[in-house]
Amino acid sequence: FTSATVGALVALSIVALVLSLVNIEDVTLPAAVKYGMVFDAGSSHTSLFVYEWDSDKENDTGVVSQTLSCDVHGQGISSYANDPPRAGDSIKECLDKALKVVPAAKQRKVPAYLGATAGMRLLREQNSSAAEQVLAEVAKTMQEYPVAFKGARILTGEEEGAYGWITINYLLDSFTKYSPKAHTWVRPEAASIFGALDLGGASTQISFMPEGSVVNWKEGSKFTLYGYDYSIYTHSYLCYGQNEMLKRLAKELIQQVFHHPCYPTDYNETVSLSSFRTSLCTSQSDPRLGPGDRNVTLEGRGDASGCLAAIKKLFNFSACGQSQDCTFDGIYQPPVRGQFIAFSAFYYNFKFLNLTEGQTLATVRETIGRFCTRSWEDLSASYPEENHQRLPTYCANANYILTLLLDAYKFNETSWNNIIFQMKAGSADVGWTLGYMLNLTNMIPAEAPAWVKGHVP
Ligand code: AMP
Repeated sequence: FTSATVGALVALSIVALVLSLVNIEDVTLPAAVKYGMVFDAGSSHTSLFVYEWDSDKENDTGVVSQTLSCDVHGQGISSYANDPPRAGDSIKECLDKALKVVPAAKQRKVPAYLGATAGMRLLREQNSSAAEQVLAEVAKTMQEYPVAFKGARILTGEEEGAYGWITINYLLDSFTKYSPKAHTWVRPEAASIFGALDLGGASTQISFMPEGSVVNWKEGSKFTLYGYDYSIYTHSYLCYGQNEMLKRLAKELIQQVFHHPCYPTDYNETVSLSSFRTSLCTSQSDPRLGPGDRNVTLEGRGDASGCLAAIKKLFNFSACGQSQDCTFDGIYQPPVRGQFIAFSAFYYNFKFLNLTEGQTLATVRETIGRFCTRSWEDLSASYPEENHQRLPTYCANANYILTLLLDAYKFNETSWNNIIFQMKAGSADVGWTLGYMLNLTNMIPAEAPAWVKGHVP
């Protein structure tokens, strides 16, 4: 052997030894994977999310990933008010699927939550005992499964907004920053914290960290996360979700003109007057609706500017007077600040219109205006795959989004560019469920992360 060969052999043996040690360690000390699951019982439908993470990284940021998302068939749980056991049955299929992705030995340790949102808030106001029964039935079903059931309850609108805000900033890793220079964790720049914009079926939420300190907000939330305090503004508007907005719009138009400026020409929709009485958002006694029931037909007009004007009438802007720190109905909101992630229906509608790539406000307005003038014949032929119930609503939805973001929340030409329309961050869906689970399982510590040797972020 030459000395070079001996040297190479020695080096190889060392590498082999190191590799075998690493392997031994991997075999004897596997990182334990933990799981958690949360049902999002929304107004229009229910989804189940299963999450997983390594137990030894539990208190790090951004370590939770989404293992499964499952859409429950049928409507939201509030639609089972007249037959609560069916609400319980509806969630079984997703629970079965969830058990397939969690190893049997770990199932009984999986914390399982169900959070219901605006659909159930409305049902509770209309019929609190029906709401209780529906919740009792879904809880009963969850308890029949070998998981650690932790409760089924209705979230407040502010919780829904705040947990969405936590989810986003957790997934985008904006809560903690390590400064290698100072060898310590530093407070992230306020500008790197994202705001959250959520448009559901029955309510909509806005949450962000405003400038300055908290000044007697009813809508304030305070969190201590990884060693720092965050004061966020969050407000939830009940009846301002997309489906309730469409109903309120139809109700206004039926009373006035029988024309629907937001629907395409050649498209007609027949609605029964009694349908307006079933939702709290449209059922305020209105003499113009008259007694009894009858069907009324709304004729689409494909009128872009008429649509925007009709939608603006759904908001009481004058209640704000001259105040700039006010959205509508006299609701206080400090000026928007920083970047925002706009998800759920904000995203679905803009995705459909190809408007999620950072288009300028002028382009967005123009695209929506053009879309609104297209006839039903043209649209249904151009989008044969699209749900034919949803297709005629995109014009109204998009104009609603513009009105909410610009006139109510007061984004402008410049701050518009800070809104990112996005539904996923990494592998996980953006929504309130992850933030809810992180909070209830104490996975976001109040203290700064521990300094782990050899683990420089
Ligand atoms: P969710 O996020 O499921 O609570 O839904 C929020 C709202 O988005 C509801 O009004 C749904 O009807 C609506 N929605 C769901 N999918 C789409 C879609 N592909 N396009 C437009 N709206 C949608």
